[in-house]
Amino acid sequence: MTDFLSTGTLPDEYRELALTVRDFANQVVAPVAAKHDAEHSFPYEVVKGMADMGLFGLPFPEEFGGMGGDYFALCLALEELGKVDQSVAITLEAGVSLGAMPVYRFGNDKQKQEWLPQLTSGRALAAFGLTEPGAGSDAGGTRTTAVLDGDSWIINGSKQFITNSGTDITRLVTVTAVTGTTEGKKEISTILVPTDTPGFVAEPAYNKVGWNASDTHPLSFTDVRVPAENLLGERGRGYANFLRILDEGRIAIAALSVGAAQGCVDESVRYAKEREAFGRPIGSNQAIAFKIARMEARAHAARAAYYDAAALMLTGKPFKKQAAIAKLVASEAAMDNARDATQIFGGYGFMNEYAVARHYRDSKILEIGEGTTEVQLMLIGRELGL
Ligand SMILES: Cc1cc2nc3c(=O)[nH]c(=O)nc-3n(C[C@H](O)[C@H](O)[C@H](O)COP(=O)(O)OP(=O)(O)OC[C@H]3O[C@@H](n4cnc5c(N)ncnc54)[C@H](O)[C@@H]3O)c2cc1C
Repeated sequence: MTDFLSTGTLPDEYRELALTVRDFANQVVAPVAAKHDAEHSFPYEVVKGMADMGLFGLPFPEEFGGMGGDYFALCLALEELGKVDQSVAITLEAGVSLGAMPVYRFGNDKQKQEWLPQLTSGRALAAFGLTEPGAGSDAGGTRTTAVLDGDSWIINGSKQFITNSGTDITRLVTVTAVTGTTEGKKEISTILVPTDTPGFVAEPAYNKVGWNASDTHPLSFTDVRVPAENLLGERGRGYANFLRILDEGRIAIAALSVGAAQGCVDESVRYAKEREAFGRPIGSNQAIAFKIARMEARAHAARAAYYDAAALMLTGKPFKKQAAIAKLVASEAAMDNARDATQIFGGYGFMNEYAVARHYRDSKILEIGEGTTEVQLMLIGRELGL
């Protein structure tokens, strides 16, 4: 089996973490992945296992209940989980990098003390409410409003496609809303909305093509009243702050995508050695070996791209372009490898219980969520001054 640790550059603590998560992924996640996918059920027992391992607290300081690790550690965990089950990996990714991270990056002391221990322990999940029916790639098109009424915000509007927003352990949604206009431009702010607030509704879950064991809902807000102190970060900085969260999140999605791409390689190598046609293993045909070699090259190049983006981020250097590149190439590697792996598996590759079939359905969203392929190209082009 191909081993990303063969790059040989990882310090011991990262290696150990990756190997621990790999064991968990193989022993706990893989056996129930097909069942949750078929039943479209949220894997509470797996999420509890990840919580017990401290994965939801990986990049946060110990004073907030975290593990004192960093964002790269989170990425390594996502890569290992993404190999066997993208739904589980995205549940962790959204819980940490989209859910808890905005509170950690932009919250005041009181907000951090109130929310982070619950979120970093995995006892509770927070969701990231940016996308709306009329505002996806163009997230500045937000129409949800928040109006100050005495010492409360009154929120009205809707969000769509929001991950982790309707589970039994979801306690918080961070919501972008228009809070006024400054010099004729919309002023967008972020507000913390506890999910037990009257007027907040997580509508029935979507029937998705993939990521079936991940929780995704439309949300509606009707005269939702929360204290004025629930403003997260500076008033009017909500959009900018969420863009920063998305820049980081792209590295995490790239890591998850690399996991998916590598999972397809590993499954294909195994199958190509074991499946015989015309009296010999199909992998002895150069057409199959070349296909798998190209898959391995895609996964490897995409891994190098996310390692690079993460290294820049952790050393405080600009990383926007590298994060967009990593997300672009890794999501394409996952989709391309899933298509090739399905071909290598023949008819079995079209059967839902096979991991490669799940990757085939799951990988498409990697080219759409947290910024589509076109949005990554726009970001890279802009960084080049175009
Ligand atoms: C399963 C799932 C989970 C999600 N989780 C969350 C979440 O937790 N929180 C959240 O806020 N959002 C979430 N999203 C939303 C996701 O981020 C958006 O779907 C995505 O950003 C694209 O927005 P859109 O769907 O409105 O597509 P649109 O913006 O309408 O884009 C449609 C197409 O047009 C292209 N396009 C748009 N503008 C341009 C342009 N200028 N040039 C070239 N092409 C362009 C796009 O690339 C795309 O191909 C999730 C979505 C899904 C499906």
